[in-house]
Amino acid sequence: MRVTADRNCCIGAGQCVLTDPVVFDQDADGVVLVRVERPTGEAADRVGEAVGLCPSGALRIEHD
Ligand code: SF4
Repeated sequence: MRVTADRNCCIGAGQCVLTDPVVFDQDADGVVLVRVERPTGEAADRVGEAVGLCPSGALRIEHD
């Protein structure tokens, strides 16, 4: 699986970073950065959770 973020859509709420601070980060303006595009194992589970929690719908999961 691969996670992508639409940085134009992100409102900087930070839910993704709280859910997995390794996979997700925020830049100086609070806009999401994806640090690990292809998480595995428990990190992949947390990414699925983060996609559901993101209030702006900025996060997407693509399955290979
Ligand atoms: S949870 Fe969504 S809106 Fe909030 S920082 Fe992450 S991608 Fe942006």
